[in-house]
Amino acid sequence: MAATSPRTGAPATSDADLIIIGGGPAGCAAARMAASVGMRSVLIEPDALCRNLYRIPALNNVLGGYTSGPELADSITEEIKKTELCRIELGRRATSLRTADDLVAVTLDTGIQLIAPYVIVATGVGPLQPSDASWITAPPDLALAPLWQADGETAEGRTLLILGGDRPIGTFLRAHPTSGTRLLVTYPHTDDYKIDEIREEPRVTLLPADHVTLHPTREASTAREASTAEIVGRDGERQTVKADFTYLSLGTSPTAPSGDLVRDAEGYCPAADQHPRIIIAGDLRSARFQRIMSAIGSGSEAALHTYYATRDLIPAR
Ligand SMILES: Cc1cc2nc3c(=O)[nH]c(=O)nc-3n(C[C@H](O)[C@H](O)[C@H](O)COP(=O)(O)OP(=O)(O)OC[C@H]3O[C@@H](n4cnc5c(N)ncnc54)[C@H](O)[C@@H]3O)c2cc1C
Repeated sequence: MAATSPRTGAPATSDADLIIIGGGPAGCAAARMAASVGMRSVLIEPDALCRNLYRIPALNNVLGGYTSGPELADSITEEIKKTELCRIELGRRATSLRTADDLVAVTLDTGIQLIAPYVIVATGVGPLQPSDASWITAPPDLALAPLWQADGETAEGRTLLILGGDRPIGTFLRAHPTSGTRLLVTYPHTDDYKIDEIREEPRVTLLPADHVTLHPTREASTAREASTAEIVGRDGERQTVKADFTYLSLGTSPTAPSGDLVRDAEGYCPAADQHPRIIIAGDLRSARFQRIMSAIGSGSEAALHTYYATRDLIPAR
């Protein structure tokens, strides 16, 4: 059957052999592996390639002698930029994807539609926002940055309000061992077990909460959110705290474009449940395999899957 556009039904011309959504370790590995077997890809990334790796100060579980995230990210980025068969669409976000029998159409935030026989979706996970937490009341459109994106220099001498007790708090403190930053950490009872590693830290004030009402105000000089927060403690006692910046430590949830993706109850996209033209790679697969090396492995495997499926050497999933 001839390829037709899922949107218009008109005959479609492929933009590449493969569209890759997400330029993290999984997407970059897919692009590299695809090129190595002669497949042309388009790689879509709204931010910088491997942007998340730039915030990992120390690595101890990656082969190749890399001991920091930025070192690995620079190396991957350089290699992808030299990969002739990969066209990088930086600064673009995929907003939806649609499948037909023999092709996939990916719509970008510019409205442009790209078409290819296969798509690899490797969009990873993003931070949960206050609107996702029933114990927080905040303006509905408020979008805060996760703590791991905090810049130690800007935070120096400041008070940060941290919403949630997820593990990146310990990572932040280890990355800035001598900083004069004060952390007010407010968290629900479900996070009690997570804050053990920071309980004795003198820079941290723990504020266990039943409910938090947040009144954010944007600080013009840094474009970060300051806050006044009314906290109702576990004993029903109320207190008001003020902070220079507000960051999230609520955990993460899968990030994926809308359209023909099959999601589980938590929003992950299990690889085995998708349309045969859609292959999932990296953190988006499940909460269990969220590591750099497993992302690289799954991205590479995803590209090889499309290569063999194109040649009818294995049945498309
Ligand atoms: C603070 C922190 C510390 C970590 N430390 C380690 C560690 O020490 N060792 C380790 O192995 N792992 C670590 N990890 C986990 C590791 O970073 C991830 O497992 C890995 O980055 C997953 O790669 P990925 O390509 O699946 O997803 P990501 O790296 O999340 O990349 C996904 C990409 O998709 C892009 N994207 C999202 N939505 C869209 C869209 N709609 N259209 C186009 N692009 C989109 C994003 O901009 C992003 O660049 C850490 C993670 C964090 C947050």
